[in-house]
Amino acid sequence: MRRIAFIGLGNMGGGMAANLARAGHAVRAFDLSDAALDRAVAAGCMRAGSAAEAVADAEIVVTMLPAGRHVRDVYASAVFGNVPAGALLIDCSTIDRTSACAVIADAAGRDLAMVDAPVSGGIAAAQAGTLTFMVGGTPDAFERARPILDDMGKAVIHAGAAGAGQAAKMCNNMLLGATMIATCEAFVLAEKLGLDLATFYAIASKATGQSWSMTSYCPVPGVGPETPADRGYRGGFAAALMLKDLKLAIAAAQDADASVPMGSAAGALYQAMANAGDGDLDFSAMIGLLRGQSVRQGTD
Ligand code: NAD
Repeated sequence: MRRIAFIGLGNMGGGMAANLARAGHAVRAFDLSDAALDRAVAAGCMRAGSAAEAVADAEIVVTMLPAGRHVRDVYASAVFGNVPAGALLIDCSTIDRTSACAVIADAAGRDLAMVDAPVSGGIAAAQAGTLTFMVGGTPDAFERARPILDDMGKAVIHAGAAGAGQAAKMCNNMLLGATMIATCEAFVLAEKLGLDLATFYAIASKATGQSWSMTSYCPVPGVGPETPADRGYRGGFAAALMLKDLKLAIAAAQDADASVPMGSAAGALYQAMANAGDGDLDFSAMIGLLRGQSVRQGTD
């Protein structure tokens, strides 16, 4: 049993904090949203009145916040200066590498070990405790973080030095964003060529066009396993979050002088989805944009 402070109890953090409490840890939780905090308390966490109060006697701090500015702000204003000496800091948010590396360097300057540990798997995996963690930091910090991350995930992988977790996450999601669009495109063309979509799925999922976007997250309702497409494209991974991740990847590619034409094209298409008012729908709702008709028509 460890004393853990958990800050950021939203769609992802709520399930993750609940799993830490279920594993027997003493989890002191904080979120700006009272509703999120209430849910965490109902799931076995203890209520903290502020982030500073949550970390005050923590051995481990876990944060799951929206973006880089929230992470920089929470660590500067509440974690550093209040957390006990020797605590381990774990940021699971998906943020830009510059912010991640700056906060980890700030922690190191205060003799605090910290890792960036973004996740893959989405809300269902956060609740089920089956996330994949990609971790950046020293080998020592990684080994200290591993048992805590094991309580929330099915795979915990050391990606490299500080910031490497964020690097791996953005490369993975750039790949995912592009394969989903390619999968949607293929289904739209198959449809126009008169193919039965279930038959095309049966073929492509066994042929070289196969990908996770096809076989685990098929964008066509009623085809393949149950996915957000079968639930009106709700409750999955919002297109707006995919757009955020692609922007991080494209900015990192510019800094690193890497060529990412597919990632850039994918970014432009998710931006078009957001501009059309569909940013809240699952990213597989891209199929509507490619058909020239939002999937929202007929589902609302
Ligand atoms: P969310 O918006 O549901 O939750 C974020 C929570 O942080 C909110 O409850 C908000 O009130 C809280 N918060 C913001 N500022 C705060 C502060 N200063 N102090 C305390 N609490 C604060 O977002 P989410 O879907 O849980 O995503 C969290 C992170 O996980 C993001 O970086 C996201 O990119 C990443 N992620 C999300 C998914 C997904 O499927 N939703 C999958 C993988 C990774």
